[in-house]
Parts: sequence; C-alpha cells; structure tokens
Amino acid sequence: ILKKHMSDISREKSAELFEKAKNYFPGGVNSPVRAFKSVYGTPLFIERGDKAHLWDADGNEFIDFCCSWGPLILGHNNPQIREAVAEQLYKGLSFGAPTRLENELADLILSNNTYIEKLRFVSSGTEAVMSAIRLARGYTKRDKIVKFEGCYHGHSDSLLVKAGSGLVTFGETSSAGVPKAFADETIVIALNDKEALTEVFSRFKDQIAAVIIEGIPANNGLLLQDKDYMHYLRAITQEQGSLLILDEVITGFRLGFQGAAHYYGIRPDILTYGKIIGGGMPVGAYGASKEIMAHISPDGGVYQAGTLSGNPVAMAAGIAALSILNQPDFYQKLEQTTQDFVNTLRAYIEEHQYEVKIFTVGSIFWFAFTTAESIKRADEIDPASMEKYKIMHRELLNRGIYFGPSGYEVGFISAAHSTEDLQKTIQALKEALDVVF
Ligand code: PLP
Repeated sequence: ILKKHMSDISREKSAELFEKAKNYFPGGVNSPVRAFKSVYGTPLFIERGDKAHLWDADGNEFIDFCCSWGPLILGHNNPQIREAVAEQLYKGLSFGAPTRLENELADLILSNNTYIEKLRFVSSGTEAVMSAIRLARGYTKRDKIVKFEGCYHGHSDSLLVKAGSGLVTFGETSSAGVPKAFADETIVIALNDKEALTEVFSRFKDQIAAVIIEGIPANNGLLLQDKDYMHYLRAITQEQGSLLILDEVITGFRLGFQGAAHYYGIRPDILTYGKIIGGGMPVGAYGASKEIMAHISPDGGVYQAGTLSGNPVAMAAGIAALSILNQPDFYQKLEQTTQDFVNTLRAYIEEHQYEVKIFTVGSIFWFAFTTAESIKRADEIDPASMEKYKIMHRELLNRGIYFGPSGYEVGFISAAHSTEDLQKTIQALKEALDVVF
C-alpha cells in the first residue's frame, strides 16, 4: 500500500485560511460537511472554477464531482449563465417587486412539467420544503408528517429528525435544538418498507398531513427505491387523504424536466425544487395543482414570503441554465456519459474483486463499500465502510480529483466533464481503489 500511496498535495494556504475562518465561523465553515471532518486534511479553499475544473488557494487543480452539491449540471463558469447574470447585474440586483424574469423561469418549469400547475419561488431548498410542509398542513388541516430515515430535506425544525447529509456524516442523525413537541409531529420510518408505511397509517389514522420523500434519496448514499414501493406510497397517501411531497431538490432537472416523478411514473401532490433551477445562484421553489396552491397567501391562509424571493439575478441564471437543459438529447447524452464512466469502473472492480459497488441513476453516482447487490435503506450502510471512503478520497485529491468530503454524499457528472476529464478520473479511481484494497 505504501508503495502506491501518493504524497499529499500542498494545503498550506488553505490551512492558513482555515485557521482564520475558525475565528469567524463555528468549525470554520458556513455549512458543516465543508469542514472535511470525516476525510483527511484541512478543507480546500476554492479560488475559482471553470467547466469541470476547480482551483484552490494553493494553486492545485481538480476535476470536480461535487459540483457545488448538485446545482452545477453545466459545470463552472458556463458562458451563457455568466452573460445572463452579467446583463442583469447592470439592471439591478433586487427590487422586491415582480419581474418578467420570474414569469420566464416559471414558464420554463411549468410548461415542461405535467405534475404542477403553479409554483412559488423561494431562496433555498430548505425554504421550499419548509413551506411545502406548511402548505400540506394548512391544506389537510392535519399536523403530523411522515419522513424516511436517511432522507435530508434541509434544516427546518420538523425535518431534522433522522436526516442524512451532514447529520449522518457526523454520526448524529437528529439535531439538538428541535423542540420535542416538533419532533413528535414527525414520524420517521425506514425506506422501501411497505409494512412500515401501512402500519403508520393505521396507527395515526386521519392525522398525517403529508409523507415526504426525496425524489431519489441521495443524502445518505444513493438509496434507489423499488418502483413498486413508490407506487404503493402514492396509492396509500391518496387513499388516506394525505399529500405526497416529492422533494426534488437534487433530482429536479437532474433526471430531466419531469424529474423523479416521471422516472417512477407517479403523480405527487407537491414538488419541491432547488439547486439546478438557480443555475448556481440561491433559489428554491415549491409547486402543486392550482387548487392546492390557492391555499398560499395572499389568496389563501398559509403564509409564506421572502425579501429576496424571485431574485432577478438568480432568475436570470436559472433561465439561462434551464434553456440549455431543454435542448434535445441533453439528458440522454449526460446519462450515457455517466453509464460509460460507471461501467468502465465496474469492470475494473469486478476484475479485481474489490468490495465496492457503484450505484447510479441519471448523472448521479455513489461508491458504496459493500458486498450487497443493492442498498435501499439507511440502516443497510455499515458506518465502518466510511474508513475506506476516507482513504479513497485522499488518494483522489492527491491525483487531482475532487469528490464530496463524505462517503454518504453522492457524486455528480456535469455536461462540462470532457472525455479526457473522465478518462483521467477513471485512471485515478483505479489507482485509489488499489490503495484502498
Ligand atoms: N432537499 C434535498 C433533497 C436536499 O438534498 C437539500 C440539500 O442538499 C435540501 C432539501 C435543502 O436545500 P438547501 O441546502 O438549498 O437549503
């Protein structure tokens, strides 16, 4: 192993910046997983990005598979998005009044989506989901919600119970500071388990406002659900008068304009978006039928507002991004690229009998250090396997490849990843896996 291990990249400047940052921010960061707590070394402070590449403060260059945690499906510094943003910068940053741009982005989303008729823009995925929950409660006049172990839906109180993402990375799946009374309204069950679902509805009959699930759970590894299970989930929620909220903050416009709803062939009641629809700027949205959305203020009694909601710069970025994604074959090409990438690696893994699987959907992939053929629930992941991810992560960074700093996080391929980028990554991954095993 020592022979193959590659020496560490220089992190001098990043380390200096991190020391300073620790004086300003808890843990030195403004979002927990960025602190590199479950991988080796100090976090890299990024100076700039272009296409699929990142440069850090020490001048190291990386091929990026974190893609800002999903939004950058077109890579960094996309010229069309950059120009749309630049044009808007000269017209004004924020007005707190309606703009034509909000209509344009809404039209791009709604006219290509058969599941929702109206939407509301907010500034993050967290806000989108938090508002969707309030809407579901206001609409059904019920209080309880059901979520799944390992699904992350942002950091609002009722959803920080047995969530994935940073919580699972740090080994604590529920947050301190959430009042017990709030947590009591959130019922958590395991994924892909029909019996648990049936039982919850018989136990809390007429009390459940909504069931919320990630389009495809991707914050606690990539937990691909059976289609049959998702159809059962749709049927039972409908039968019981509960709403189904499909949180497409990751999967929305990653799997296509119709997202995971279309992938399964189900019709959810409320959809939530974030990440890609802002083209890299802070945006979220939630949408539903006209009838459900009529419950939102100012027409309805469910209040929700935002100083920067529908921010014109963010709208301009989103319009530019979605206009590119809306071109024929965009998603087919990206998926094919991902399939080729994954299959090449799978062949190598098979040949060497390494105990690692690559799970994938669309342009999302996840390395699971397991012998299991599939992993559909959070409790099927062995926390000890994360040690292997840690080694792989370090070896990859040392070879110029940037993966998310936690083994529970998925990777993303963007349209900016070139054949050469992917070939280089495959070689680096082969060498990294040789070191791991
Ligand atoms: N929902 C899902 C499925 C997410 O993956 C995330 C963030 O990763 C969120 C909601 C929260 O979005 P944000 O971080 O923009 O608040």
